[in-house]
Amino acid sequence: MDRIVIVGAGLAGGRVAVELRAAGFTGGIVLLGAEEHLPYDRPPLSKGVLSGRVEETTLPLDLDGVEVQLGRRAVGLRPGAVETDAGPVSYDGLVIATGATPV
Ligand SMILES: Cc1cc2nc3c(=O)[nH]c(=O)nc-3n(C[C@H](O)[C@H](O)[C@H](O)COP(=O)(O)OP(=O)(O)OC[C@H]3O[C@@H](n4cnc5c(N)ncnc54)[C@H](O)[C@@H]3O)c2cc1C
Repeated sequence: MDRIVIVGAGLAGGRVAVELRAAGFTGGIVLLGAEEHLPYDRPPLSKGVLSGRVEETTLPLDLDGVEVQLGRRAVGLRPGAVETDAGPVSYDGLVIATGATPV
């Protein structure tokens, strides 16, 4: 595999990128996130940010060498390419880390 695309720039997606490098993967890593933010820690949003005790929630992940594309939402999937709202992104390997929506 030369190029792994991770869809979802949250805790899981960011961690996958870091762990791929730690495991020795030297190919291209693309991290796609629908939001405009780097991966951030969500629990403090309800446990510290509202009370003003916490301001910074960006996760301390070393994403050096990772192609991070923020504000880019995946809208479809076909073999070899993720369709996004800004056009297709090709992959050899794909990780879907888009989290879950509470119902
Ligand atoms: C307010 C709050 C408080 C919490 N408190 C706790 C706690 O105290 N303890 C605990 O264990 N857990 C807590 N959680 C849950 C915890 O934050 C989640 O378990 C964790 O964030 C899951 O990480 P994830 O990366 O799997 O998903 P997410 O954090 O949901 O990340 C998924 C990412 O994928 C992106 N995405 C989704 N769809 C697309 C798409 N189509 N294209 C591109 N990107 C996409 C989203 O924008 C998001 O950034 C809390 C969550 C919230 C919101």
